[in-house]
Amino acid sequence: MTLIRSAAISTRLAFQMPWRRRQVKQMCRDGKAPMSVLFYHRVADSVPNPWTISNREFERQVDYCREHFELISLEEVQHRLESGHSPRPTATFTFDDGYAENCAFALPLLIRHRIPCTYFVTTANVRTGEPFEHDVRRNAPLPINTVEQLRAAADAGIEMGLHTANHVDFNQVRSIDHLQREIVDAKADLESMLDRPVRYLAVPFGMPEQMRPAVLQTARDCGLIGICSAYGAYNLIGDDSFHIRRFHGDPEFNRFRNWLTFDNRKNIRRPDLPTSDILDDSDDETPEVTYEECLST
Ligand SMILES: [Zn+2]
Repeated sequence: MTLIRSAAISTRLAFQMPWRRRQVKQMCRDGKAPMSVLFYHRVADSVPNPWTISNREFERQVDYCREHFELISLEEVQHRLESGHSPRPTATFTFDDGYAENCAFALPLLIRHRIPCTYFVTTANVRTGEPFEHDVRRNAPLPINTVEQLRAAADAGIEMGLHTANHVDFNQVRSIDHLQREIVDAKADLESMLDRPVRYLAVPFGMPEQMRPAVLQTARDCGLIGICSAYGAYNLIGDDSFHIRRFHGDPEFNRFRNWLTFDNRKNIRRPDLPTSDILDDSDDETPEVTYEECLST
C-alpha cells in the first residue's frame, strides 16, 4: 500500500471516528455489536511477502485488539449469532495455511495472553512437509508446520481446523468425489494426525465464488460445525452462524484499524453468495490459481 493511500485512510478515520464510535455504541445498546474475525497466514521477520506480517506488527495488532475488543473463539461468535445477542464488539484470531514460523512468536504470544485462536492447516502439506506451490513459484519455499508442532499448539489451547487437503480452489471443483476428498477425507486425515476432533473449515481463497452451496453442504454433512470465508465482512446478528465471515489481518495498521472500527461501506457492499452448483460424478483437474486472491479483501 502506498504512503498516500495509508495517509488518506488515516485522515478519513480521524474524520469519521466520532461518528463510528456513536454508531457502535448504539449497536451495543441494541445487543447487535459487530463481531470481527481476523485471518493471518504467516508471522515472521524473515522472507517478507504479501502474506507475512512481522512479529512486531503482529504484536501491535494483538495489543490493539486486547485494548479495544472482547477476544472470543469462533464457537462464541456462533453462540452470539444464534442467541441474537452481541453486547460488545469482539475480535477473533485465526490463521490459514500452516506456516512453521508461526510457532516461534505468534502462537506463543496468543497462548501467553490466553487469546482464543483457530489455526487452519492444509493436510497434504503437513503430511509431506512439502512447501506451498505459491511459495515455490516465488522461489521462496517456506517451512510447513509439523504434526508435532500442531499437536503441541493444540495441547496449549489453539483449536486446529481444516484448510482442505491441497489448498483447493472450490470454484474449479466440478466433481462430488473431489469435494469429498478435499473436505471429508481431509477432515478424517487431520483428526487422525492430531488425535482430536476437527470442527471448522476455512475455505481457501474464501471469496464468494468459492462459498458454493455444495461446499457448505458437504461440510455440514461430515459433521463440521462452521465454515469460514475470507472475502471481508463482519458477523452481525441475523447472519447464518454456520458461515463465519472474516477479513485479513492487514499488515498496514491504518487499514486494519479501519476494518475493526466498523466501516459501514464494507457492510453495505456485502456480496451475494452463489446459489447454484455444477457438479457431476466425473473427476476433474485442479487448475492453477493465484494465491494473491487470498489477500484481496
Ligand atoms: Zn490459504
